Amino acid sequence: MGSGKVTTGSAPFDFQGKHVTVAGLGVSGIPAAKALHARGAIVTVVNDGDDARSREQAAGLEALGITVRLGDGATLPKGTELIVTTPGWQPGKPLFQAAAEAGVPVWGDVELAWRLRGPDAAPWLAVTGTNGKTTTVRMLAAILEAAGLRTAAVGNIGVSLLDVVLGEETYDVLAVELSSYQLHWAPSLRAHSAAVLNLAPDHLDWHGSMAAYAADKGRIYAGNQVACVYNVADKATEDLVREADVEEGCRAIGFTLGTPGPSQLGVVDGILVDRAFVENRQKNAQELAEVSDVRPPAPHNIANALAAAALARAFGVPAQAVRDGLRSFRPDAHRIEHVADLDGVAYVDDSKATNTHAAQASLAAYESIVWIAGGLAKGATFDELVAASAKHLRAVVLIGADRALIREALARHAPEVPVVDLDRTDTGAMLQAVTEAKRLAVAGDTVLLAPACASMDMFTNYNQRGDAFATAVGELRA
Ligand code: ADP
Repeated sequence: MGSGKVTTGSAPFDFQGKHVTVAGLGVSGIPAAKALHARGAIVTVVNDGDDARSREQAAGLEALGITVRLGDGATLPKGTELIVTTPGWQPGKPLFQAAAEAGVPVWGDVELAWRLRGPDAAPWLAVTGTNGKTTTVRMLAAILEAAGLRTAAVGNIGVSLLDVVLGEETYDVLAVELSSYQLHWAPSLRAHSAAVLNLAPDHLDWHGSMAAYAADKGRIYAGNQVACVYNVADKATEDLVREADVEEGCRAIGFTLGTPGPSQLGVVDGILVDRAFVENRQKNAQELAEVSDVRPPAPHNIANALAAAALARAFGVPAQAVRDGLRSFRPDAHRIEHVADLDGVAYVDDSKATNTHAAQASLAAYESIVWIAGGLAKGATFDELVAASAKHLRAVVLIGADRALIREALARHAPEVPVVDLDRTDTGAMLQAVTEAKRLAVAGDTVLLAPACASMDMFTNYNQRGDAFATAVGELRA
């Protein structure tokens, strides 16, 4: 492949003859090692594990002439001039301490992709936040597509940016989901426009503190050219915009579920309206779509749609495309997914609500709920969630390892709500949970799986948990 010189938004980086250490084999490490090797870098891959699978992967790389060191991801290889890390590796690892002491820069997979973009590469519209990233990025891609643009939803959503940047396909614009880990390791990323959807404590063990987590999320605004999109209801996101160092002329654009002020998108009488990207925004507003065009029309999801619309409008997309894109959008599985109606009770799978912030949004979307919750708490506390949601709760069915934490919060903030505590974690537990929920629900209620916890105590992942819920509902119906 091409010469060692690569043109980038920042300074061209010459990989030819450079000693680059790739930290971590696996999804992002292997393609990174190959791409660097192809550009003339002298690549060493280091990996903590030394199991059969990593040996197999190592053999594949060694056949290309790449050095692989298994079983030691801590020591900085001699002569390293740059580290390219898998985004999940914690900043506190000894490898990075050694790099900092030696003045060696560390890039993540997103930084590498950003640096390897060609001179005519598509601009990025970037999205981060504690919750709603995937949904918003997919809505954004649907809107851009409806405008006739060549685009794709990429990044943390499960599509490697490196693959996209190095691939054959050309794009007009990319809808990019970025995690806080990826942003931490992406110092020179400069998006066309970006949104932070919301900020609630998450992954604090990785980042070390809420301030560090917020600062990493805030990096998404650095160098924005047209718009920094923030959530009017979440002041922390606006603060990040204020602190950001952006291009001259870049605007702060708010989204709100209320009536929008100038330079905001919001909702008026069931209509999504734009008071930011219109002529004379002091007086005028542009109708974009109806609330009923958003699926599902839960409040937090309307906020996601407004954020997606703001980014699309910042890119110059016409109002009609916002409506068409939102109408064509299909939500992903396990995100407030309507599974069935039985005897006037709706069964909804929000297995993806793996933290309290997400579960709170989903509990706010229904009037009267039999809530199925529990799993691995990951250090979370449940008082705020339960206190805010108590008025919506008909009853609660608790499952999973850390259910006592939720039970205690319920005793403190919703003592009158009936609670069924299931002391089993086998595969039949979900069927029992759904059976109990059915017994407790009355017509007009919603049985909502929104666990507020991770799933790995009982399931492989949230997908399997949601599938188990849907299967159990199917059995009730049979
Ligand atoms: P992410 O990619 O950030 O994990 P998703 O779009 O996959 O976000 O949604 C994950 C879960 O978060 C959903 O199932 C829903 O419960 C919740 N959620 C989605 N959007 C929001 C939002 N804007 N605010 C709060 N919670 C949300």
